[in-house]
Amino acid sequence: MLGPPIVMIEKVCKSFGENHVLRDVSLTVRQGEVVVICGRSGSGKSTLLRCIDQLETIDGGTIRAAGHLMGFRERNGKRQPLRDAEIAVQQRDLGMVFQNFNLFPHISVIENITLAPVRILKRKRAEVREEARELLKRVGLPDKENAYPRQLSGGQQQRVAIARALAMKPKVMLFDEPTSALDPEMISEVLDVMTGLSEQGMTMIVVTHEMGFARAAADRVILMHDGGIVEEAAPEKFFGNPESEHTRLFLSKIL
Ligand code: ADP
Ligand code: MG
Repeated sequence: MLGPPIVMIEKVCKSFGENHVLRDVSLTVRQGEVVVICGRSGSGKSTLLRCIDQLETIDGGTIRAAGHLMGFRERNGKRQPLRDAEIAVQQRDLGMVFQNFNLFPHISVIENITLAPVRILKRKRAEVREEARELLKRVGLPDKENAYPRQLSGGQQQRVAIARALAMKPKVMLFDEPTSALDPEMISEVLDVMTGLSEQGMTMIVVTHEMGFARAAADRVILMHDGGIVEEAAPEKFFGNPESEHTRLFLSKIL
């Protein structure tokens, strides 16, 4: 079912000053795989996602994603950092969904979705709008194309944010606590969209504490602790018989 590796993270290190936030993190994700990352606040989950998407520059190690050596070019065995414009090209293949939706407030839903494909990919507006309407159906918001973000609930805004990311036809989707800012009654509508995406074969790395989603949709669940991966297992094993004391403690607090 799963394809070849599409994200390969090798011994990635990242510090902020003296704070070693990622310590030799290695992780391989295969095409079509859903990996859920959990761990207590400050363990480095967001930083890892941000490093994959080059929103942070890594200090050491290697990240390959969607066919790119993220942030660098290799020439004669040597590495050179890429310029911002070159990084932006790599980022097109990765969709990122944040906790706080980050929609553009001053433009409509459909404009939020079509902006990047038109401006960045230089695609035809009419064609992109057609696709945006399809995406809005897919996230359950077919009648909201002309609404503005402030007119939508948090759950609706997050579904638009997912549609906006999908409009770039990413090869991998990264989600950073996509339901943490939502009222409880809106969490499932967002998780349902994400489950649908996973069923359609999307490769997803999802930071979340929604353990029901992890059980149902994840191929693998990972626990991060102090900047490292301390557990990595199929959901049955992760929840039923974890190896790490950290995982047992984490689960006892969250479940
Ligand atoms: P998590 O998402 O697991 O809660 P983060 O990756 O956000 O953890 O943060 C891990 C650590 O890195 C924390 O100690 C946090 O304070 C620190 N950190 C994250 N981003 C920055 C930044 N831009 N500047 C300085 N420290 C940061
Ligand atoms: Mg975080």
